[in-house]
This record gives sequence, structure tokens and C-alpha cells, in this order.
Amino acid sequence: MAQPAVLVFSKTRSWRHNEGIAGADRFFSEFTTNNKLGLFTTVNAAVFNAEQLARFDLVVFNNMTGDSLSPEQESAFQNWIEDGGALIALHGSGDNSHSDWSWYDTQVIGPQFIGHPADPQFQNARVVNLAAAHPIMQGIPADWIHNDEWYSFDTAKLTGAVPLLGLDEDSYNPQNLVYGDREDLRMGGGPQGHPIAWARCIGKGRSFYSAIGHKHTSYDDPIYRRVLTNAVAWVRADDAQRDGCSK
Ligand SMILES: [Zn+2]
Repeated sequence: MAQPAVLVFSKTRSWRHNEGIAGADRFFSEFTTNNKLGLFTTVNAAVFNAEQLARFDLVVFNNMTGDSLSPEQESAFQNWIEDGGALIALHGSGDNSHSDWSWYDTQVIGPQFIGHPADPQFQNARVVNLAAAHPIMQGIPADWIHNDEWYSFDTAKLTGAVPLLGLDEDSYNPQNLVYGDREDLRMGGGPQGHPIAWARCIGKGRSFYSAIGHKHTSYDDPIYRRVLTNAVAWVRADDAQRDGCSK
């Protein structure tokens, strides 16, 4: 395996997003080939130990859902990222099915998923750039229309994160007519009140979460590919470039 290397992990013990997993797998396959990085794609959690994690400088939670890691594996990952690792977590990786892993649930993801519209499930919505000066938002338009399954969150635990993308709730129907027990999924407060992607520092490491990416088509979208490419660069930036999460 070429070094540095990327670990793409798509184990699911709750909902399995076959389409989104395939789309992100393809994105990271192309990305690592184009950038001459190593790549290891797996659903086997046994790789989460100190010796194996040391071979990677980026971990991708590709729609990882449910209780996918043992307590020992969770602790190995936490040590790895706090010591300078880098995480990209996608869509279902923030779907509130990880409550068994409290540190990840509350301090890596933070905001708690409360539902997504189910009728229709997929809608066009206006995605708004909330942090034009942030490195991850370089080259990203002020807003654009994207089709996806749109998550809503309780944002109380957004503290410490930098919101990067938000949703215009007037551009789609944020109601939930089938799934879950909360019908009105509006979060209010404009796009700033409905973040769908954010970055944070985790000890000496960095993480980026995006709720975009239920379907494989999201990973073909040039704007979203740019967001992911910028996010990979930002979370992987070496110590000399680390000038704080607010930049
Ligand atoms: Zn989904």
C-alpha cells in the first residue's frame, strides 16, 4: 500500500446506504489514484487498532451506521485522531445510530439527527455556503441547488464546530410524512440555523462531517467533489499549516 494512505470504512450495523457507499468508494478510489495515495476499503473493524491505524493519515466513515466498533476499537480510533489523525464522516455516519459510542456521537458529530423528509424522500434544495473564507469552502459558490435526502438536526451540540454549509428551508419541503415521529423538521433561523456540514478540531486532529450523500449521484456532482477534495486537504493538513479551526 502506497503511503500516505486512506482508510475507507463502510461497516453498517444499522441502515446500509448501498448507493451512497458505492458513490463515496468510487470518489475515494479516483481521488487516491489521482493523488498517488494508498487506499484500503473495508467493512472489517479489525483494522481499528493502534498498529494498523498508524499506517493511515485519513479515515473516512463512509455511511458507517450503528454500533460498528468494539469499545477497544473505538478507543484506538479516538487515540489516533486526538494524536493528529484526520476524519471525513459522510451522511449516515451522522444519523444518530451511534449512541453506544458517546464520544463520537456528541463530540465528533455533535448535532443529533432528528429525521429527514420521507414523502418525497429526495428533493432539490438550496445549499448555502456559510463560511466563504474557510479553506474547505474555497471555490464553492455562495449557493447552489442539490438533490438529496435532507437531514435535520438538534444543533445544541454544534458548539466547537465551524458550520460550513446550510440549507434554505424555504427551497424544499422539510416535512416528514412517513418516517419517524416528528413531522415538522424545520430548524428555523435561516441557513445558519440548519447546518448540514461542519468542521472541527479533535485534540491535534481534525474532522469534517457532511450530511450530503445518500445517493451515489452526489459524489458525481462537481461542486460536492470540490467540497470533499478541499475537506480532505484541510483535515490532512500537517501541523505547520494548522492555524486553528476557525480559519
Ligand atoms: Zn440516507
